[in-house]
Amino acid sequence: MGSLCLLRSYAVPGLKGVELMADTDKQTLRKIEKLLDLLRELRQKESEIVEEVGRLAGGEEGIGVKLKRLERWFDAVWTERYAPGSPKAAYVWQYAKDVPLLKRLLRSLDVDTIEARMSAYLRDDDPFYRKQRHPFGLFSSNVNRYADAAAHSDLTLEPPADCKHTPACKSDQEHTRRRANEMQGGPF
Ligand SMILES: [Zn+2]
Repeated sequence: MGSLCLLRSYAVPGLKGVELMADTDKQTLRKIEKLLDLLRELRQKESEIVEEVGRLAGGEEGIGVKLKRLERWFDAVWTERYAPGSPKAAYVWQYAKDVPLLKRLLRSLDVDTIEARMSAYLRDDDPFYRKQRHPFGLFSSNVNRYADAAAHSDLTLEPPADCKHTPACKSDQEHTRRRANEMQGGPF
């Protein structure tokens, strides 16, 4: 109620000055909000960089590789359920929304664990998930329902095109395992 009375008083002629000030105040507030958002973004970027440096220094894969692997995996288990046997079918990502969610998952879980849970999610016949066609967003918010998912389903992904191993890897998992071993044995 109080704010309503205030609003009305702004409309009274002769109080133009007050009205003007209120407008500048609002503009300043909006600017401050925008600046705060920018600062938050910077902070987020900063901590992502620190995490990435830590990963690379520890011989781990960079975030880009991990994201790609998870994307491929979700694609594979999703099309296995919704478009089996059609090689051109793919899950439609909403990258602006989904990538930050993937990054958040990676902060507490490793790639293998997330993949196992993705498989379990796509096997879940929950009518609500089925109706929505198992979107990634729902997986992300229910990821803990699949905490005891088995390490890996029998599904295997083709090795990535840039595999230069001899003998060539037979699956994405094998390639990743070999890459991880190589990095651990690395140049140091
Ligand atoms: Zn390979």
